[in-house]
Amino acid sequence: MKIAMIGTGYVGLVSGVCFSDFGHDVVCLDKNPEKIAMLERGEVPIFEPGLDTLMAKNVEAGRLRFTTELETAIDGAEAVFIAVGTPTRRGDGHADLTYVMAAAEEVARAAKDYVVIVTKSTVPVGTNRAVKQAVKKANPALEFDVASNPEFLREGAALDDFMKPDRVVVGVQTDRAAEVMAEIYRPLYLRDFPIVTTDLESAEMIKYAANAFLATKITFINEIAALCERTGADVKKVAHGIGLDGRIGNKFLHAGPGYGGSCFPKDTKALARIGQDHGLPMQITEKVITVNEEVKRRMIDKLLDLCDDTFNGKTIAVLGVTFKPNTDDMRDAPSLTIIPALVGGGAKVRVCDPQGQREGEALLPGVIWQDDPYKAAHNADLLVILTEWNEFRALDLNRMARKMATPRMADLRNIYSSRDARRAGFDAYESVGRTGFR
Ligand code: NAD
Repeated sequence: MKIAMIGTGYVGLVSGVCFSDFGHDVVCLDKNPEKIAMLERGEVPIFEPGLDTLMAKNVEAGRLRFTTELETAIDGAEAVFIAVGTPTRRGDGHADLTYVMAAAEEVARAAKDYVVIVTKSTVPVGTNRAVKQAVKKANPALEFDVASNPEFLREGAALDDFMKPDRVVVGVQTDRAAEVMAEIYRPLYLRDFPIVTTDLESAEMIKYAANAFLATKITFINEIAALCERTGADVKKVAHGIGLDGRIGNKFLHAGPGYGGSCFPKDTKALARIGQDHGLPMQITEKVITVNEEVKRRMIDKLLDLCDDTFNGKTIAVLGVTFKPNTDDMRDAPSLTIIPALVGGGAKVRVCDPQGQREGEALLPGVIWQDDPYKAAHNADLLVILTEWNEFRALDLNRMARKMATPRMADLRNIYSSRDARRAGFDAYESVGRTGFR
C-alpha cells in the first residue's frame, strides 16, 4: 500500500519509518527543507533511539523516501496521514489547528484519486469533520474519506510503542475507509494488538481523555508526595503499595518535578478549553493544570531552601534538561521553569544533558553547558537531578561530593536515597515525597 506522511516530526517520522518497515511504500513530506535535506542524507533530525537504523534499513529497501513536494508524496497514495503540530494557541489554551487545516487543504488541492485523509495529530473533537468540510470545499470533485488515528507513542520508546502498541484507535465514517485503515495496520492485527474502531468523535476524545488521565495520575502522586514530606511517609513505598492494586496499576506513579513535554501540558489545556466551549468545564483537568504548576514552584522552593534561602552567588549544577530521558525534546520541560528561576535569582548554573543542548541552548539563556556531570559539579554549592537519564543513575557520588564546594543534592527524580547521599559524604539531600537530611 502506498502511504504519504505529512510532517516529519517526532510522530510523523516514526510513523513513516514504521509503516515502511511493515512493508508499505511510504513517502514522508515536510515543509522544512532543511529537515528533508538531512533525511535525504540519511541523518535523523531528532534523537529517538533506534530510529536511524530502522530508517536506513527501509530507505535501502526502497520503501521509504523523503520530499518537500506534495504532488510527489501523494501521487498514487491510498492514505495520506497528517502528523503536523497542534501546539497551544497563544492566549486561550485552544489547540492551534492552523497547520492541520492548511495541510488538509493542500492535500485536497493536490489529490486526484480516492484517498483516505487520516489525522494522526492530536485534535479536538469535531476537527475531522471540519477537515472533511475543508477538503470538500477546496476540491468538490475529489472522492475521499477522513479518518481519525490518534497516536499514543512515547518519545524515547517510540519505535517499540508503534510496533507493539497497547492499542490502535481508528475513527471512521465509511467501510471503505475502515478497510484501508485495516490494511495499513494489518501487520499489527495479525500479531493480536487490539485495533479499536470507532466513530470520528470517539477516536478524537480517546486521545485527550487518555492524556488527561495520565497527567492526573502523575499529578495525584505528586500531591501525595508533598503530603508524604509533611508526614514522614515515603512516596516510593506508597506508590509501590497502591500500584500493586490491579485497579490502580504501577505505571505513572513516579513522583517528580511535575509533568512536562510536548503532549500533557498542551493536551490538558486543550481538553479544558473543549469543556469550556461545550459549557461543561473539565473541573478535574483544570485543577490538574493548576496543581502541576504548583508542583514546579514547590521544586524551586526546595532548591532555595538547600541554598540557604538565596540563589545569589551560588553555583548550581543541573543534570538533565529534557522533559524525560532518551529524547532531545525540550517542549514544556520542567527545566524551563526551574532553571530560569535559578539564573534569575543570581545563581551561576552549569547544565549537563546527553541530548538537550541543541534545543536547550536557545531556551535556557545564561547557563553554562558541560558534557560531563562531574565537571558541572566542580566547586558547586548544589547538585540538582532534573531528568533521570541512565547516565545520571549510577553516578560516583563519593567523587561528586568531593568535587563540590558544599555537597548538597536535590534529587528531583528519586534516583538515590538519603542513605546513598550520606554515605557518599553529602551534607544535605532532598528528594520528592521522602524525608531528606540537612
Ligand atoms: P513536531 O513539531 O515534531 O513535527 C511537526 C512537523 O510537521 C514539523 O516538522 C513541521 O515542519 C511539519 N509541518 C507542519 N505543517 C506542514 C505542512 N503543511 N506540510 C508538511 N509539513 C508540515 O510535532 P510532533 O511532536 O511530531 O507532533 C505532531 C502531532 O502528534 C501533534 O498533534 C502532537 O500532539 C501529536 N502527538 C505527539 C506525540 C509526541 O510524543 N511528540 C505523541 C502522540 C501524539
